[in-house]
Amino acid sequence: MKVIEHIKASKGKTLFSFEVLPPLKGDKIDNIFSAIDPLLEFDPKFINVTYHREEYVYKQKANNLLEKFAIRKRPGTVGISVAIFMKYKIDVVPHLICGGFSKDETEDALIELKFLGIDNILALRGDPIKTERTFVPTKDGHRYAVDLIKQIVDMNRGQFLHDEVYENAPTDFCVGCAGYPEKHVESLSLGTDLKHLKQKVDAGAEYVVTQLFYDNKKYFDFVDRCRAEGINVPIIPGLKPLGRKRHLSFIPKTFNVDFPDDLAEQLVKAKTDADIAAIGNDWCIQQSKELIKAGVPCLHFYTMGNSQQVANIAKEVF
Ligand code: FAD
Repeated sequence: MKVIEHIKASKGKTLFSFEVLPPLKGDKIDNIFSAIDPLLEFDPKFINVTYHREEYVYKQKANNLLEKFAIRKRPGTVGISVAIFMKYKIDVVPHLICGGFSKDETEDALIELKFLGIDNILALRGDPIKTERTFVPTKDGHRYAVDLIKQIVDMNRGQFLHDEVYENAPTDFCVGCAGYPEKHVESLSLGTDLKHLKQKVDAGAEYVVTQLFYDNKKYFDFVDRCRAEGINVPIIPGLKPLGRKRHLSFIPKTFNVDFPDDLAEQLVKAKTDADIAAIGNDWCIQQSKELIKAGVPCLHFYTMGNSQQVANIAKEVF
């Protein structure tokens, strides 16, 4: 079932969903299942599975020269998504990104997902890889998420890349896209970012999932500005409870978000990971309750390897 159908069927009740990462190369798929299991009791309507780009690393060769090669630390998004779908009979939302894919490879991945019964895609551009300062599109690939969305929508209409050679049955994916209450890091202003978000929705994205945030006011203001811009699709808030000291520098830097003053005041007093997790839990519960009260369509949690913490929060709010 499509995400948008789940939202319609909920009749205004806030749904629960979450995101998992494919296991690290060399790990077992059971690690993903044990991350999902504690969250099943909260009746997730869909589970997102992230997509990870390759990273370039250097290896010393016998002649002392450095050899550059690409590795993907977390491969397997398509396979993992299908394994989750089949094991739990819960809808999955594989993420697809522009970076690292040519349009032909994207088409193949989408056809594979269609064959396997997947109804949903979250369409993203992807971040620049670590050795690039700005995003560099792959040869014959897309530059922006909107272009990926257009390709999926074309396929839903039965328009494929090589229609002159093959005839394909149309796909029928529900496409979501990303939105940034505190603006995307590369955007010069929230206003220009919103114009680009509107392009994604006009191209066929049926809902938006937001970047994580710690200040609900930023989400509410973002939704108001989206509505003023004519973006009328559901906007699902994304939440990530703070759990470790490392998060205090990693999260603002990686996701371009600020901590509100009253949260920051608590965090500066914290000494251990356990202190941070306690503050993070309380804060996330408070955020979740307020968002549910405001009637948000779904609370979407970024588990980032700590689904037990999300379960502790869900217990308090669902
Ligand atoms: P876009 O919508 O293409 O926007 C990227 C930037 O370009 C923005 O600054 C935008 O304003 C600008 N822009 C857009 N269109 C135009 C245009 N026509 N002209 C000029 N500028 C334009 N990354 C992963 O690698 N894997 C994942 O699984 C993943 N999952 C995510 C899930 C969510 C919910 C979110 C919020 C992010 C996720 N990301 C993931 C991160 C995401 O890939 C990055 O934030 C990326 O830098 C931007 O992706 P986007 O889809 O928002 O890009």
